[in-house]
Amino acid sequence: MLDRTTTLQNYQTYIDGTWTDAASGKTFETLDPYTGQPWALIPECDNTDVDLAVEAAHRAFDAGPWPKMTPTARGKIMRRIAQLIEQHAEHLAEFEVRDNGKLISEMLAQTKYMPEWFYYYAGLADKIQGAVVSVDRPDHFNYILREPVGVCAFITPWNSPLMLTTWKLAPALAAGCTVVIKPSEYTSASLLEFMKLVIAESGLPPGVVNVVTGCGPMVGEPLVAHRKVVKVAFTGGSATGARVNEIAARTFKKVSLELGGKSPNIVFDDCIMDDAVSGAVSGIFAATGQTCIAGSRLLLQEAIHDQFVDKLVSMAKTAKLGDPALAETQVGPVTTPPQYQKILSYIDIARSEGAKCVLGGEAAQKAEGGGKYFVKPTIFTGVNNRMRIAQEEVFGPVLSVIKFTNEDEAIEIANDIAYGLGAGIWTQSLKRPHTVAQRIKAGTVWINTYRAVSFMMPFGGYKASGLGRENGIEAIEGYLQSKSVWINNGSGGGNPFIMKTAS
Ligand code: NAD
Repeated sequence: MLDRTTTLQNYQTYIDGTWTDAASGKTFETLDPYTGQPWALIPECDNTDVDLAVEAAHRAFDAGPWPKMTPTARGKIMRRIAQLIEQHAEHLAEFEVRDNGKLISEMLAQTKYMPEWFYYYAGLADKIQGAVVSVDRPDHFNYILREPVGVCAFITPWNSPLMLTTWKLAPALAAGCTVVIKPSEYTSASLLEFMKLVIAESGLPPGVVNVVTGCGPMVGEPLVAHRKVVKVAFTGGSATGARVNEIAARTFKKVSLELGGKSPNIVFDDCIMDDAVSGAVSGIFAATGQTCIAGSRLLLQEAIHDQFVDKLVSMAKTAKLGDPALAETQVGPVTTPPQYQKILSYIDIARSEGAKCVLGGEAAQKAEGGGKYFVKPTIFTGVNNRMRIAQEEVFGPVLSVIKFTNEDEAIEIANDIAYGLGAGIWTQSLKRPHTVAQRIKAGTVWINTYRAVSFMMPFGGYKASGLGRENGIEAIEGYLQSKSVWINNGSGGGNPFIMKTAS
């Protein structure tokens, strides 16, 4: 059971294998979204701490044992990380709930699943293989080395802090990279607990994983700009992602971006209706709608629209709002005060655009816990795809229902958006899932399911939803680069003034 003691916990950050205060000595408060009260103090890092952390990661990469260790030995340490997460999954989930207010059932599912990433990429560590190339020159022996890129910067959001860190950390460590992580200023505590219980106990050499805490402009920007960082893996909003990408481009860093979404959940009239209703609820109200893959645009085929909306409203209105630390709670608070304001403002926007509110549409007043940041599950019908409520990411429990007549129109509406992260399709047809999945411009398409993720399945966005993919075998490529080695065993002659080509 989550311990909500009122004394503020004082955290230090973790740089070069040592617990330390911010160089400035400053701290900032982190809030419990359920009570609305501060519960911990986090070091307020700045440029100086960023520099210390990147230098530590750089030493660990350049002179330290990590990239020089055999991949098999690296894999063993990663398995130890997985075991430590298994051991502390409940504790870590409770700290996630305290900091981000998401449901204990959801956060526990995430922390219990996280070890799989470390087992999977630990298994890949000693299968990173170069190649021998029979090059088109006589007497040559050519080969390609696969090398870790170097120091990586991770920047993560508040909605699933540890899971989204894991998606980056496991492939980076397997590749032999060292890292500096900047968590969201709203949810730094669970990462610091993870460092204490998992990373510091895992046998990883000092400097391989470092943390700098603080806000985006003060800590994120100098980290992205640092000349010794060679790769940036960012998860967050699309506007922030664009800024990070611009800064990183100035020093030619590799960048991967996992950004926002406005995903269509498309229900055809040949669906199994109860499954689709449950999928629509899960798509938008799970995690209080604070997930990048929220199915926030529900596309309903005309013939079933009214019946579906009735069923949807009936199910959604039974959602139990309350303390996210209790197993029976189904909708928790919004994580941050600015996000709470943003959601309420989008509800006003939807009304002013002429959408019809058929459920919720206001803040929920909750006496218990003192929590201020609850929004009732909200459904708008009569939405057309040009409205802002259909085009812009709300990141809250607000669903836009859009009617369509046929498959072509559904696909046109689904793709008529800046984003392309996920999409759901509900149908019993055998043929339709494949044709529709091919025509949807999104990184993930779920058919008769929604919000499923796995360490084995690539995850990422089309268009403004991101660059690159996390998870699956291809994710490790983002942390590797190729080096071509040429050995001439023959004569060294030839014209020194022209390039050595085959002819
Ligand atoms: P955000 O963009 O505000 O912040 C994300 C991170 O970036 C935080 O750590 C923040 O401190 C940092 N940051 C802010 N400004 C920065 C700057 N100028 N330079 C460097 N770093 C900076 O996002 P958020 O509000 O924390 O999270 C919600 C957003 O994240 C939503 O848009 C959601 O869709 C997206 N998200 C995407 C995925 C995905 O996998 N595609 C997953 C989860 C969340």
